[in-house]
Amino acid sequence: ASFGYTSVPKTKKESLVRDVFESVAPSYDVMNDLMSVGMHRLWKDYFVHKLASFPGMTHLDVAGGTGDVSFRVLKKLRKVDREGNGKEAKSRVIVSDINPAMLKVGEERAATKGLKNPGFDTKTDAELEFVEANAEKLPFEDESIDQYTIAFGLRNVTNIDIALREARRVLKKGGRISILEFSHVEEEPLKSLYNFYSFAAIPTMGQIVANDRKSYQYLVESIRKFPKQERLCDIMREEGFSSVDFENITGGIVAIHNGYKL
Ligand code: SAM
Repeated sequence: ASFGYTSVPKTKKESLVRDVFESVAPSYDVMNDLMSVGMHRLWKDYFVHKLASFPGMTHLDVAGGTGDVSFRVLKKLRKVDREGNGKEAKSRVIVSDINPAMLKVGEERAATKGLKNPGFDTKTDAELEFVEANAEKLPFEDESIDQYTIAFGLRNVTNIDIALREARRVLKKGGRISILEFSHVEEEPLKSLYNFYSFAAIPTMGQIVANDRKSYQYLVESIRKFPKQERLCDIMREEGFSSVDFENITGGIVAIHNGYKL
C-alpha cells in the first residue's frame, strides 16, 4: 500500500535527516511523549539500567539529540563514581549529534535540570560534554571510549556499517556498544495494531500537533526500512563486534542490541 510518501535515495538521506530534526527539534520532546504514549521514557530507563558502569569511565552517546539517554547515564555514573573505591574517579559523558539544533535544546535542558553548573562539583562530578559529530566520522581518538550508545539514532544514519565501524574504532578493547532502536514486531495481534498505529496515526498526529506531516512520515518509513533484529546482529558481527545479542522490548516495537570490541 502507498501511504503517501516515496522512498528516499541514499545520497539525499543525510540532508533530509538534517531537515527533519532541524524542524522537529523544538517539539521533539513533547512529540516523543505523545507518539510513544510516554513509553520512550521506560525504554530509555531500562536501556540505561542495563548498561555497564564503573567509576571513571568514558561514555559516548551518539545521535544523543536532546540528551535523554546521556542525562540518565550521567546520573548513574555520578552515583557510581561517588560509591567508587574511595579513590577519585570522574567519569565523562559525551553527547554527540550531527544536528546543532538538537544539541542546543539538550544544553538548555541540562542547565534547567541542574546537570551543569551550578549544582554539582566540577572537580569530582562527572561532566557532560556536547560535541557536534556525524556518527560516520567521529572526532574521537582510536580506543578512547569505554561504552558507546546510540538510541533511536542508528536508523537515521546513512550508512549503518560505516557508523558501526567508527563505533568499533573509538571503543577501547573490551568496550561495549549498545543500540536502542525501533525494531520489528512479528507476533499478531500486536503486529497489525502497531502497523495501523504507525502508518495511519503517527503522521496524522504529526500533522495536527506539530503541523509537520512529512517529518513524521519519514519517521515511520525509517523504522520500516531498518534491518530486522537478526540482520542487525549479522551486520554488527560483520563489523567485528563479538558476543553480539539482542533483546526485544514491548514485543519488538523496540530492541536493544549489544556487542563488544574484543
Ligand atoms: N538519542 C536521542 C533520544 O533517544 O531521544 C535522540 C534520538 S533522535 C530520534 C535521532 C537523532 O539522530 C537526531 O538528534 C539526529 O540529529 C541524529 N542524527 C541523525 N543522523 C545522524 C548522524 N549521521 N550522526 C549523528 N547523529 C545523527
